[in-house]
Amino acid sequence: MPPATTGVTLDTRLPFVLGGPSAKKLADAFDMRTVGDLLSHYPRRYVQRGAASDLDALTVDEQVTVQARVRSAQNRTYGKPDHGRRRNRQPVRTEVVVTDGSGELLLTFFKQPWQIDKLKPGALGLFAGKVGSFRGRRQLLHPEYVLLDPVGGSSTDADGDYAAHLVRPMIPVYPATARLASWRIASCCAAALDALGELDDPLPADLRDRRGLVDLRTALEGVHRPDDVADHQCGRERLRYDEALVTQVVLARRRLLLDTLPAIARESVTGGLLERFDQRLPFALTDGQRRVGKEIASDLSRNQPMHRLLQGEVGSGKTVVALRAMLQVVDSGGQAALLAPTEVLAAQHHRTLTTMLGDLALGGMLGGADGATAVRLLTGSLGTTARRRALLDVSSGAAGIAVGTHALLEDRVAFAELGLVIVDEQHRFGVEQRAALTERGTAARPHVLVMTATPIPRTVAMTVFGDLDTSVLAEVPAGRLPVQTSVVPAERPGWLERGWQRVREEVAQGRQAYVVCPRIGADEAAGDSGEESAPQQPDPDSPRLPPGHAVLDTAAHLQAGPLAGLRVEVLHGRLPPDVKDAVMDRFTTGAVDVVVSTTVVEVGVDVPNATVMVVLDAERFGLSQLHQLRGRVGRGAAAGLCLLVTDADADSPARKRLTDLAATTDGFAVSQLDVTLRREGDVLGAVQSGRRSSLRLLSVVQHEHVIAQARADATELVDGDPDLERLPGLRAAVANLEDTSGADYIDKA
Ligand code: ADP
Ligand code: MG
Repeated sequence: MPPATTGVTLDTRLPFVLGGPSAKKLADAFDMRTVGDLLSHYPRRYVQRGAASDLDALTVDEQVTVQARVRSAQNRTYGKPDHGRRRNRQPVRTEVVVTDGSGELLLTFFKQPWQIDKLKPGALGLFAGKVGSFRGRRQLLHPEYVLLDPVGGSSTDADGDYAAHLVRPMIPVYPATARLASWRIASCCAAALDALGELDDPLPADLRDRRGLVDLRTALEGVHRPDDVADHQCGRERLRYDEALVTQVVLARRRLLLDTLPAIARESVTGGLLERFDQRLPFALTDGQRRVGKEIASDLSRNQPMHRLLQGEVGSGKTVVALRAMLQVVDSGGQAALLAPTEVLAAQHHRTLTTMLGDLALGGMLGGADGATAVRLLTGSLGTTARRRALLDVSSGAAGIAVGTHALLEDRVAFAELGLVIVDEQHRFGVEQRAALTERGTAARPHVLVMTATPIPRTVAMTVFGDLDTSVLAEVPAGRLPVQTSVVPAERPGWLERGWQRVREEVAQGRQAYVVCPRIGADEAAGDSGEESAPQQPDPDSPRLPPGHAVLDTAAHLQAGPLAGLRVEVLHGRLPPDVKDAVMDRFTTGAVDVVVSTTVVEVGVDVPNATVMVVLDAERFGLSQLHQLRGRVGRGAAAGLCLLVTDADADSPARKRLTDLAATTDGFAVSQLDVTLRREGDVLGAVQSGRRSSLRLLSVVQHEHVIAQARADATELVDGDPDLERLPGLRAAVANLEDTSGADYIDKA
C-alpha cells in the first residue's frame, strides 16, 4: 500500500495511519498511541519461513505463535453415529493435528466443521493461542491462524491480506495477546513503515559512523521486516544503542543541573568526635573499612553531593563505617540521618550507636563528654512524649544523629541542618522514599550513602550507568568463618530431623538459632505490617502455592516435638513494638534459645551468638533475601550454618536456584543472579500488563560496554550543546523519556 498520507512521523497518532479499529486494538492490548509506540514493539524472535518450530518445548498456559504444517484434520461428532447429511446439526468437534516435523500440537474447534476445508493436510500456517492440555496432549483451543502456504487455494480473502506481507523469508513473532495475533501486529507495523515520512534521526551521522550503526529507518525496517539475520541484528544493535544514549543524555543533563545545587563540604576536624571515637574502638578496623572510610571521608569534604553505594558483604561491618561518616558530618556542624527498613533494625541501630559512642552520645546530659552529641530514635510506634522530644532535638540540632524508619521521612520532621543521609539495607526501600528525604527543600543537598549487601536491580543499573559511585566492602572481620549453606529436600525427611538435632546441639553449647517461615499464622499473611517483606515469588506466573509454614504453628510444633525443652519464642510484624523489642532483647542477652520468625529478621539483625538458621519453604524467598537471612548467623567467632528446607522438585528451577545459592557465599554474585532472574520476570510482566518500559533491548547485565560507550558520547554531546539545539531528533527522544515517569533506571535520588 503506498503511503496515503504525507508527513507521518513517529509522533503521529495511530488512528490516522491504521484507522480506528486497528488503533483501538493496539491501544487496548499494549497501550500504544503513536507510530513510535508501535514501532518500538519489537519482535520477540523470528522464524525462518518453513523452518521447524519447537512444538515440544511449548509449556501450558503460554501464549504462543508457532509455525507448523497440518498433518491431519477430522470432524468428530458425539453420541449417535454419524448419519451423513445430519452431520452439521450435531455438536461437532474439529481436531486438527499440526506438526513441525517432529513434535505435534492439537488444534481443537467446536461447532466449526468448515475448518477442515481450510486446514487441509500439507497446509503451512502460523497458529496462535494459549497452550492448554487435553488428555495429556498439548492443544490450542480455537486458535487464530493464518495460512502461509494453503493447499488447493483454500485461503480466504482475509488470510490473503495478512499473508501478503508474510511472504517473506523471515517472519517476525511479536509479543501478542489472545485478541491480537502476532501477524496482525506485523501487518500494522508494515503499514506504519510504509506511511512513515522523512525521519529525524536522533543520532548524528558522525556518531553513527564512529559506532558503526545503521540509520534509524534502516534499523526499523531491519527489525520489523528483515530479509536475513544480519538485518535484524544491525537494527537491534542500533536501537539498543539509542536506549543507552538517551538514558545517558538524561543523566548527563541532570548532572549539569545538580552542579548548580551544591552540598556543604563536611571536612573532618582535629580533636572532634570522630577522632575520639576511633581512639576508643573496641576492635581494629579491617583494611576494607579503612579504605571505604577514606573514600567516603573525601566525598564528604567536597561541596558536590556524595552519591555513593556501599556494597558491603553481610557482616562486613557497615554500621561502623556509617557511624564514622556521621561523626565527620556532626563534627563539622551538620546532622546525619540513618534510615532502616524495619523498626527492629532501627531500634537495634539506636542501641548499637548509643553503646558504641558511650559518653560521646550524652550531649546535654549529666556525664556527657565535652562536645558530645545525641542520638535519637524516631519510629512510627514511638509514644507521644518520646516522639515530641525526639522531634525537638532533631529540629533544634541538639541531636546530631537521628535513627529511624520511614517515619523519618514524614514532613513534620524538620532537621536543623541535615548534612548526610544514610540508607541502610537500601534494597528494602522504595525509590520514592529516598527521593523524599534527599529532596527536602533545603538550599544545600545532603550527601547520600546507601548501604546494602545485595543491591536491587535499579541500583545495579545505576552503577552500570555510572551515576552512583561504588565502594566495595567484601571482607568480613578476621577470624570469622563463612556460613555453610545446605539444601534440605523434603524427599529426605531424615535430613530435616538431623537439622533439628543440629539446632539442639548448638543450643547445648550455649548458642542460639533462628527458624524462618514465610508467614505468620492461620489466615494472616506476613507483610501486612510493613515489617516483613513478603516472600518474593521467583515466578509471578506460577500457580498459587498452598500456604507455607506459619510462625505460630511451627513454634507450637517445635516446642511439642523436635525442640521440646528449649526456650522458643516467636517474632513477627504483628506483635506490638514493645513486645518485639522485648523478644529481641531476650534473644540478644541469651534468655531465648530459638526465635521462630518471619523475614522481620531478614536485614541487619546482629546477634553474634546465633549460629544456626533453618529456613522453611526456602523456595518461596528471593535469593537476595535468603542471602540476607543467612547473614544473621556466623557473625561471631563460631561458624554459621544455614539450612534451606524445601519441597521443590529435585530437577525444578526453584531447586536449582537454591543449590546455586548454597554454592556461593558472595553477595554480589547473588544479586547478579537475582538481577538476571528478575529482568526476565519484568519482560514477561510488561507484556502481560501492557506496561511499557523504556529499556527493551538494553540489558544492564549484558550490555555494559554499550552503556559505557553511550556515557562517553552523551557527555560529549551535552557538554557541547546542553539543550541539544542542534539535535532535534535526540532532543525529542530525551524529552519523551524525561516525561514518562517510567524512566525506569533513573534514580530520582
Ligand atoms: P553489616 O555489614 O552486615 O551491617 P554489622 O555492621 O552489623 O555488619 O557488623 C557485624 C558485626 O561485626 C558487629 O557485631 C560488629 O560489631 C562487628 N564488627 C564490625 N567491624 C569489626 C571489626 N573491624 N572487627 C571485628 N568486629 C567487627
Ligand atoms: Mg547492617
